[in-house]
Amino acid sequence: MLTQELKKKEQPKQGMLENVMKQFNSASEMVGLNKNIKKILSVTNNELIIHFPVRMDNGDVEIFKGYRVQHNNALGPYKGGLRYHPTIDIDAVKALAMWMTWKTSLAGLPYGGAKGGIQIDPKKYSTAELERITRRFAYALGDNIGPEHDIPAPDVNTNAQTMAWIADTYMSTKTPSERSKNQHVVTGKPIGSGGLEGRDRATGFGVYLTIKYWAEHKNISLKDKTFIVQGFGNVGYWAAHFLEQDGAKLVGVQDAYGSISNAQGITVEELLNYSKANQGSIVGYSGASNIDKADFFGLDCDICVPAALGNQITKENASKIKAFLIAEGANGPTTVEAEKLLLDRGIEIIPDILCNSGGVIGSYFEWLQNRNGELWELDEILIKLDKKLKEAFKKVLQTATARNLDMRSAAYVIAIERIEKAYVQRGIFP
Ligand code: GLU
Repeated sequence: MLTQELKKKEQPKQGMLENVMKQFNSASEMVGLNKNIKKILSVTNNELIIHFPVRMDNGDVEIFKGYRVQHNNALGPYKGGLRYHPTIDIDAVKALAMWMTWKTSLAGLPYGGAKGGIQIDPKKYSTAELERITRRFAYALGDNIGPEHDIPAPDVNTNAQTMAWIADTYMSTKTPSERSKNQHVVTGKPIGSGGLEGRDRATGFGVYLTIKYWAEHKNISLKDKTFIVQGFGNVGYWAAHFLEQDGAKLVGVQDAYGSISNAQGITVEELLNYSKANQGSIVGYSGASNIDKADFFGLDCDICVPAALGNQITKENASKIKAFLIAEGANGPTTVEAEKLLLDRGIEIIPDILCNSGGVIGSYFEWLQNRNGELWELDEILIKLDKKLKEAFKKVLQTATARNLDMRSAAYVIAIERIEKAYVQRGIFP
């Protein structure tokens, strides 16, 4: 036991930053990226670490650690979510910020990339405490965020309520006449507070759409195809919901509490209701059996949707995967080493920066809606989302075919070339 534990410790844990840098370096070589632009994109523009005090319900004061990293803004204001998670550290946020830069560029949005978060386990705090933590963090961020400068959004363990608190805190620091001009300082707000109809499902819907486009391209029907989902939060649930609606069958789910499977199928809506009544956990759901965490990725299925955290599909479990398609709902779920093993086995991967970009595309629509004082309708939003995502997907397929690349490399090539073009056109100040 002790030797095993020591071994575990000795094994270098591959971080997400290492992963994104490897992806970027190999893509830069593929496009022959200008060496000076490569220098710029290899580092983050700004990194903010904030320690801030908050009074807890019991009267004690606790100090929290918050981050905001702005990677690049060559194409427009910084954009990206805020994550509340114990594993959040500066390197994780840097990696996630970089992925946002590639994601917004690939989607053709006028944005750069950023990410932030707080190193906490939100489950340990009351709603009132979370509100104070969020508001104090927003206050401390001050004008390091802003509607035309850096626009946060929800990510893991944050939601529309979190965004409403941030928007309100930020707007409260402005003069009354400026207040309403700042509503688009965050996206993913509740409908009624400037939020976009359908923003809640935008990421998961986008994940489903990319799977659908892929299947159409391969002439495969999604009917009766089996799939597993890691993470049953906003992304995993909605992706499962739309896949099921299209005739596919959910056969396995893993969340932070455990893993379940049923080869006969799990009803998505039923599982959602169960988890809502069970403090957000899927464990114990009577329509499936509990399985070992380690057996999850080896479940018999056609499509695997990692929709939780980074570095989940590794060289240790990649060989167990039976799916023919991996659709990355999460950011950075597959390590570079695992990807190589998967591609060698003919398993295809719809990369995160394409697969989960429905979320930030939805954010862009919300931002435009607020900026122009408009209210968009759900039907029109879903059509627009489909159009934008399809365009990006087509470009990735075309580039992959034309340059004989896998989908991730093709997506990176498109994203990097767009940013390179902006730098070449504008030059470097002074
Ligand atoms: N957190 C989401 C992502 O990783 C959405 C970001 C946004 O809308 O700005 O893509």
